[in-house]
Amino acid sequence: MSGREQEYIQKAFDSNWIAPLGPNVDAFEKELADHVGAKQAVAVSSGTAAIHLALSLLDVKQGDKVFCSSLTFVASANPILYQGAEPVFIDSEPETWNMSPLALERAMREAYLEGQLPKAVIIVHLYGQSAKMDELLAICNQYEIPVVEDAAESLGTTYKERFSGTLGKFGIYSFNGNKIITTSGGGMLVSDDENAMERARFLAAQARDPAPHYQHSVLGYNYRMSNILAGVGRTQLQLLDERVIARRQIFENYRRELAYLPGIDFMTELEETRMNRWLTAFTINPHQTEVSQSQLLTALLMENIEARPVWKPLHLQPLFQNAKYYRHKDGFDVAKQIFGTGICLPSGSNLTESEQDRVITCLKKTISKLVRKEEII
Ligand SMILES: *Cc1c(COP(=O)(O)O)cnc(C)c1O
Repeated sequence: MSGREQEYIQKAFDSNWIAPLGPNVDAFEKELADHVGAKQAVAVSSGTAAIHLALSLLDVKQGDKVFCSSLTFVASANPILYQGAEPVFIDSEPETWNMSPLALERAMREAYLEGQLPKAVIIVHLYGQSAKMDELLAICNQYEIPVVEDAAESLGTTYKERFSGTLGKFGIYSFNGNKIITTSGGGMLVSDDENAMERARFLAAQARDPAPHYQHSVLGYNYRMSNILAGVGRTQLQLLDERVIARRQIFENYRRELAYLPGIDFMTELEETRMNRWLTAFTINPHQTEVSQSQLLTALLMENIEARPVWKPLHLQPLFQNAKYYRHKDGFDVAKQIFGTGICLPSGSNLTESEQDRVITCLKKTISKLVRKEEII
């Protein structure tokens, strides 16, 4: 929090708008839509709720298939199960770590031949890196399948000068506590389809028919954002640009200090994109060094530095053990490989230089010690 959030919270209290709806919600929606260049935005209680609404609007139901990136947080795919539909997971490609156009193409062709195309494709932009949208959208457009962009981690990222989350039919953002801006918990659905967004507002507020006697014809949800939290979001949105700059600087600092070390490959930035560097992530290549991901994570932990492995791919999760999976190439499971070698470093927008130095020193020390030992053996 910056401290300035209090101002809008106070406004909510002063006007006694303590409800899921209200002037802060309306303003937050408009300000976010304007910021990213979407026609409409609907503020909801979480990013997961926004994905669920998107699938609901696309009429995803029991027996349907939905394609989804595998290398992501479980929330990207859980709403597929909420709808009783079947997830099919798509591998990453090595450059962006995001959905592989090769794997998507193969999955789509097979589904077409089997006569069961997916109802939607959920494309995730991992750690703020945009997926290869031109290639992916070309495939989805060819088969006329709508795209939901899971931009929970990529708010502020641009792809060919358009904001991540505004290239598909629907985009979703998250304001969970760990994201680049936060309302403690919250999310946003964006789209240029104004009818669909009106329907989203209806479904997110218990799908109450326009009658005074609480009549309901379809299944709805209690997914609207509270007017207090939307106040927090309005201030946070004003901080987004400077946070992107701060996170890009943190990445640049890590890269400058660590990229020369043997086996370390930082997630590169896709051409014609500007990523928000939500998290600085790299892989440690086992062919170039004997230092493993778990050795590095342990060394950081010993110094009380919180780092994380990358998300465990969803096709490897017990929850999804029966789901179909399409690899980038035969015998080449990119998501699994990144999972076994990838590390996310502390990347908070307020991380000080001396805190970054602690991380850098620890990694340098660990790698040089282990590499030297290896050479002696
Ligand atoms: C955080 C996150 C979500 C879910 O957002 P919530 O607001 O926590 O529900 C979905 N997808 C990805 C990739 C995320 O990182």
